[in-house]
Amino acid sequence: MKNRKPIVIIGAGPAGMGAAIEAARAGASCILIDEGRFPGGQVYRKNSKEFQVKEKEMLTAEQKRGKKLHEELEEVSDKIKILTSTSVLGVWKNREVMWSSNDASGVIEAEQIIIATGAYERPVPFPGWTLPGVMTVGGVKSFIKTMFIKPGETALIAGTGPLLISTANKLHDIGVNVLAVLEAGSPSWASPDFINQWGDADFAHDIAADLLELKQNNIPILFNHTVFKINGKDEAESVTYGALNPENWKPLEDTTKTVNADLVALGFGFVPNTELTELAECKHEFYPGIGWTVIRDEWMQTSQQGIFAVGDGARISGAIIAEEEGRIAGIKAAQNCEAIQAVDAEKRSEKYFSRIHSFEKFRKHLNEVTSVKSGLLELATHKTLVCRCEEVRLSDVDKAITEGAGDLQSVKLLTRLGMGACQGKNCSPSMGMYLCEKLNKTAYQVGRINPRPPVKPVTLGALANMTITKDSHQNDSYDAINTGGYYEK
Ligand SMILES: Cc1cc2nc3c(=O)[nH]c(=O)nc-3n(C[C@H](O)[C@H](O)[C@H](O)COP(=O)(O)OP(=O)(O)OC[C@H]3O[C@@H](n4cnc5c(N)ncnc54)[C@H](O)[C@@H]3O)c2cc1C
Repeated sequence: MKNRKPIVIIGAGPAGMGAAIEAARAGASCILIDEGRFPGGQVYRKNSKEFQVKEKEMLTAEQKRGKKLHEELEEVSDKIKILTSTSVLGVWKNREVMWSSNDASGVIEAEQIIIATGAYERPVPFPGWTLPGVMTVGGVKSFIKTMFIKPGETALIAGTGPLLISTANKLHDIGVNVLAVLEAGSPSWASPDFINQWGDADFAHDIAADLLELKQNNIPILFNHTVFKINGKDEAESVTYGALNPENWKPLEDTTKTVNADLVALGFGFVPNTELTELAECKHEFYPGIGWTVIRDEWMQTSQQGIFAVGDGARISGAIIAEEEGRIAGIKAAQNCEAIQAVDAEKRSEKYFSRIHSFEKFRKHLNEVTSVKSGLLELATHKTLVCRCEEVRLSDVDKAITEGAGDLQSVKLLTRLGMGACQGKNCSPSMGMYLCEKLNKTAYQVGRINPRPPVKPVTLGALANMTITKDSHQNDSYDAINTGGYYEK
């Protein structure tokens, strides 16, 4: 191992695992950190032993991809420090990484940093969206995949994109009565033409298989439709839904119908989790329909030397591309640490670059047809909560605008929007879009809610126990990091 300071990889989803595998194979010293109990991220999260599928033939294509990645990580696990149940609280451009785990915390000085922190689900506020019984599709899938919990009896799924159909099928499999899938967009991504055109991608095959299963399960899919309102006193009882204008997704109020449902699963796409790249002062750009994305070169290096960003945390591209991006960054970081030569790095990364290129058009088209359109924001009334952490209503935001607030930061200061536990993750995508529409401004003018360290909750006791780790060879202090969590192989 040439590098005296480690390559620190933050996030052990497909992107972070890919990065760690390649960096370790290249002989670099590296640390892989994740706040979860197991590596795997959102899509390949490893279940505890009681919940693992034993029979190989029962595994889905997605599970097979996950299993292979876990096996690859396992093969090099003696060369990587894997720190689970450990949160990264902040990253700085001088390549310091602050972590916490239970009642300990510390700072690691890294030679290179690979940020692979994934995405979060995009909430859209409308009447009733905060009622118990309303979940995100990712949350529903995590519930089912990790705990086999049935989250309701009768469900309606709404939002946009292929995750809706796989969620509908998963719910059907565990005995939930799925009334329908309401896709806000047009049918283009679900047409055989779209799938055949981009059919060389594994992901397109997954979509085709999910659509076939949906048909076999007799679950109808209504395009250009969405949920307008969720009704109920203490929890979701019924759902009012209707049609949308295909051009701008404005609700067509005279088309509504109401059905009884105790579970509403919402999935309006993902937003990159750029908190750490923002703290490290990496350059970002606004990508319409996705949000703020990290500017990178072809090797996934950000504008800050020695800091990489990969996977959905940099730009939404899905698990398959996330893994390839991670592998490329792992190889380049190893080269930057002089573990391998440039010519070797080129050779090792060739196939990953070609996979990314073969997917690029597909992802671009999918993003275009499943991007949330601003007409949807008309569903919120002045009483609707737009920031659930701080209980800020749309009327509070309107009042702030009347008082002169012209960007998200000033709305935050006047209303407390984004000051709560989620630090703006839930409200800033929709309210950023709202301000753009209302004030006729660009996303750059409206800006963002600035992240502040610690980006994850931490106790004062943990901060008081802070240690500084400078040299990856000389001490065993990383062993002390993972005080409470365990990594069950
Ligand atoms: C809730 C949810 C459910 C999803 N379900 C599916 C699905 O069923 N099927 C599908 O195809 N796609 C799903 N997706 C999308 C899919 O997860 C991504 O496309 C893919 O996992 C991206 O890989 P990644 O490595 O970039 O990020 P992720 O897989 O999200 O991995 C990021 C990792 O970073 C860790 N992390 C983040 N911040 C910190 C921090 N500060 N400190 C320490 N660790 C941190 C997280 O714990 C996570 O393990 C889901 C996404 C979400 C958000």
